[in-house]
Amino acid sequence: MEAVKILEERKVSIGRGKEGAGIQCGRNSVSGSVSQRACVYCGARVVLNPITDAFHIVHGPIGCASYTWDIRGSLSSGSELYRNSFSTDLREEDIVFGGAEKLTRAIDEAVEAYHPRLIFIYATCIVGVIGDDVEAVCRAAEKRHRIRVIPVKSPGFSGNKSFGYRMACNALMELISPHAPPAGSEGRRPSTAQAGVNILGDFNLAGEMWIITNYMKELGIPVAATVTGDASYETLIRAPRAKLNLVQCAGSMTYLAKRMEEEMGIPYIKVSFFGIGDTSSSLLRTAEALEDEDARKKAEHFCRNQEEALRPYVEKYLPRLRGKKAAVYVGGGFKAVSLIRQFKSLGMETVVVGTQTGQPEDYEIIGSLVGDDAVILDDANPAELESFMKEKGADILVGGVKERPLAYKLGISFCDHNHERKHALAGYEGTLNFIQEIHLSMNSPVWQFL
Ligand code: SF4
Repeated sequence: MEAVKILEERKVSIGRGKEGAGIQCGRNSVSGSVSQRACVYCGARVVLNPITDAFHIVHGPIGCASYTWDIRGSLSSGSELYRNSFSTDLREEDIVFGGAEKLTRAIDEAVEAYHPRLIFIYATCIVGVIGDDVEAVCRAAEKRHRIRVIPVKSPGFSGNKSFGYRMACNALMELISPHAPPAGSEGRRPSTAQAGVNILGDFNLAGEMWIITNYMKELGIPVAATVTGDASYETLIRAPRAKLNLVQCAGSMTYLAKRMEEEMGIPYIKVSFFGIGDTSSSLLRTAEALEDEDARKKAEHFCRNQEEALRPYVEKYLPRLRGKKAAVYVGGGFKAVSLIRQFKSLGMETVVVGTQTGQPEDYEIIGSLVGDDAVILDDANPAELESFMKEKGADILVGGVKERPLAYKLGISFCDHNHERKHALAGYEGTLNFIQEIHLSMNSPVWQFL
C-alpha cells in the first residue's frame, strides 16, 4: 500500500482513533492544500440564503454571486424571492472610484421593482480592499425606504467559512434584537411572554424543516421561528419570544444561540435529527428542557411508535449493510457524530471521518466513537481523502458535491449529505431514505464492472 503523503503543516490536523480527539481545528487552511472549505462570504450566504422573502445583494464582482439558491436546495412554503441572486457587478472603474454609489442604486432599484422588507448586503473581498462604507449605505437606505437593509461583513479573505457563519449570525441579531421583549423581573430569564422553541441550523433542504416542525406539532410544542430554513422576515422577528433554542447545526448556529442566551435570556440545547437514536433523544430532551411533562409523555409515545414502525424496514436492509466501511466528510461536527452513530447502528464501521468546520468538542466525541485506527481529519483536501479512503478500504463516502467526483473516480459509492441534495435525510422518514440510498449505492451492480 502506497504511504499517505501529508503536507508537514497538515499533520497536526490529522489523528487516529482517540488521539484524533486532540487534532487542531478551526485554523485557516494551509496554503496550497486545496481546502474544501468555502470562503467567509459563502459561509454567511449558506446561513442567510434560505430566508425566503429576503433580497440578497452581493456587493462585489459577478463571480462571487455564482453562489446562489441553485446550489442550496432549501425549500419555501411562501415567497420565492430568495431564489434570485443580485450583484452590483463591480468593475475596474468601481474599484478605482469606489462602489458605494452603485450599491445605493442597486438597493433603490431592488426596492422599486420587488418591494422587499428585508435586504442583506454581502461585502465581498474587493469591498474589503477598496473600503466602501457599506454600513453607511445600508443605514441611509433603511431611512429612505423604511425597510431593513442589513450589511453582512463577509470579505472572503477575512477568515474562513466558520467566520462567515458568525457574520451571518451577527446580521440575524441585528434583525431580531429590536423585537426582543423587555427582560422580566428575573433579569435575563425569559419573560412570561416567551413560549415554544426556535429551531436553529436547519435549512429546510428537501423539506427537512417541515419534518421537524411536524414532530413539534405532535408534541404540542409551538415553534416561534425557524432559523433559517423556510424563514421569512415576519417569522424571524418572532424568534426573541421563544423559551428555548434548539441548535441542529452547531457549527453555524452555536454563536447565535450563545448571543441570544446572553442578550435575551433564551437557553439552548444541541440536537440532531439525523438517525433514529438521535431523533428520539432530541425530541425527549426538548420536552425535558422545556419542563413540559405533557410534551415529554407525548414524545415517549411518539418516538416508540415511530421506532417500531421503522424496525422491519431497517432489519430488511441490515444483512446487505453489515460489515461495510464508511468514510465521512461533511461540513459540521454534529452531522459527523450523527453519521458515525447511524453507521454503528447498521453494523457498519466509520474508518475515515472529517469535517470542514468541526470544533474541539466535536472531535472529542468523534474520537470516543470511532475505532482505534480510524482516521480523523479537519479541513481535509482531496489528496488526503483519496489516500486515506484507499488505505482503509472504504465502501462508501458520505460528503457533499465537491466529494462526489472523487468517490466515483476511485470506484467508491457515494451518498450526498450536503445542501445540494433533493431528498430528506432528517427524522425517521429521512433515516429510511438514508438507509435505502446507501444500500442502493453500495450494492449497485455497477461496481462489478470496475
Ligand atoms: S473569496 Fe472573495 S472573491 Fe472569492 S467568492 Fe469569496 S468573497 Fe468573492
